Amino acid sequence: MKILVAVKRVVDFNVKVRVKADGSGADTANLKMAMNPFDEIAIEEAVRLKEAGKAREIIAVSIGSAQCQETLRTALALGADRAILVETQTEVQPLAVARLLKVLICRELPAPGLVMLGKQAIDDDANQTGQMLAALMGWPQATFASKLVVDGLDVQVTREIDGGLETLGFKLPLIVTTDLRLNEPRYVSLPNIMKAKKKPLDITTPEALGIDVRPTLITLKVEEPKTRAAGKRVADVKELVQKLRHEAKVISWKR
Ligand code: AMP
Repeated sequence: MKILVAVKRVVDFNVKVRVKADGSGADTANLKMAMNPFDEIAIEEAVRLKEAGKAREIIAVSIGSAQCQETLRTALALGADRAILVETQTEVQPLAVARLLKVLICRELPAPGLVMLGKQAIDDDANQTGQMLAALMGWPQATFASKLVVDGLDVQVTREIDGGLETLGFKLPLIVTTDLRLNEPRYVSLPNIMKAKKKPLDITTPEALGIDVRPTLITLKVEEPKTRAAGKRVADVKELVQKLRHEAKVISWKR
């Protein structure tokens, strides 16, 4: 089985992102970039399946600027066998990413049995691409996966849902989106970074794949969350109740 994994280059999760002064978006200039954490989990899961003899080849795909090659090299160092960059300077939104991934999946012969994505990219927090891709492919989808068991063509996926876990059975081919608890990604070793430099990385463009990636959504405004007002000290419970009732207006009095 081939596994295709989508990896997005995003601002490193440790970096505090600031909103641009004109409110048109986040200021990402000169910030440290990294692989989207959920995509690292997807790569790790694919590598574990390969190590367990359940997958033969792992293909990492990224869509974005030429710098995404660094993200793909990290995926190759983590254990992917080859990589594809769809290079564009346009801001590519989830529907366009899903359309591009569909073309790449359909070009692969034999086709991948499993396609893995993160549950969300931590920059746009869209949580849409995997679901849109499943719809475009007409394949089943297992979102928010926290456990994956592959047995031939049968797959069991445990999903994180509100208040518990749900385990579903699928037949391949399948789209899976990863949640945080699926695994803990390994560290990239120096020898593997060196080996990754020699692994194949193909570069194509949306035009070559016949996909129009022009944005269909417009960001109207981005704002920082409001800062919390400083707390107030009260002398006793009586004063606290007074303030909650008359200032904060969070309790009411009924006789
Ligand atoms: P989103 O729907 O934007 O929250 O992204 C969900 C997942 O789709 C990410 O975790 C990635 O696996 C994949 N994805 C989204 N955008 C890209 C991109 N530009 N390149 C590669 N993968 C992407």
